[in-house]
Amino acid sequence: MPIDSKIRDKVLTTIASNKNAMIGFLSDLVRIPSVVGKEGKAQEFIIKKFTEMKLNVDTWDPEITELKDHPAFFETISFTKHGYKERPNVAGTLKGTSNGNTLILGGHIDVVSPEPIDHWQHDPWGAEISQGRMYGRGAADMKGGIAAMIYAVQTIQQIGIQLKGDVILQTTIEEEDGGIGGALHSIIRGYTADAIIVPEPRSGNEIGVGSAGV
Ligand SMILES: [Zn+2]
Repeated sequence: MPIDSKIRDKVLTTIASNKNAMIGFLSDLVRIPSVVGKEGKAQEFIIKKFTEMKLNVDTWDPEITELKDHPAFFETISFTKHGYKERPNVAGTLKGTSNGNTLILGGHIDVVSPEPIDHWQHDPWGAEISQGRMYGRGAADMKGGIAAMIYAVQTIQQIGIQLKGDVILQTTIEEEDGGIGGALHSIIRGYTADAIIVPEPRSGNEIGVGSAGV
């Protein structure tokens, strides 16, 4: 269905008016060093945001016994090192008004190690902005995407658009080490939808239409 041009303009102006808030949110998130295995603090930050947005919030630590029976399961290095305690996944649902199609907007909250630090020209946890770019571990991969998907939903709420189906925001752990405790356990938890958009960065302005995951 084509989008009404008045609604489209309202969406674009609302997104523009959220610019500083989005950058602030992303900066705060980049400053939380959520290296794979230590995602807990960043997820607390997300829970706070989802709660402020009055989404239906669900948060849970992955359960290894539930994962072991799944054909895609393997024991990750990060599980061996850190286990799955205090490494929650988070989902926030914006309920639809009826039984429309459902959409998941999903991103991973973990980042890879910034070592060797002396190769950086900016503090990897500083979220410094220079010449229109933010520098920090995970700013692109993929906390920028997480900020974008969260503010997409917030924009819909601000405008008062009522969607027929549920939109589920998901931030998951351990993607950089296989995503077993993250994306896979979210499916086991029951989070499936008619479609999913993963705002993972790619080179250029490409859209990947499918993925086997990590
Ligand atoms: Zn990524």
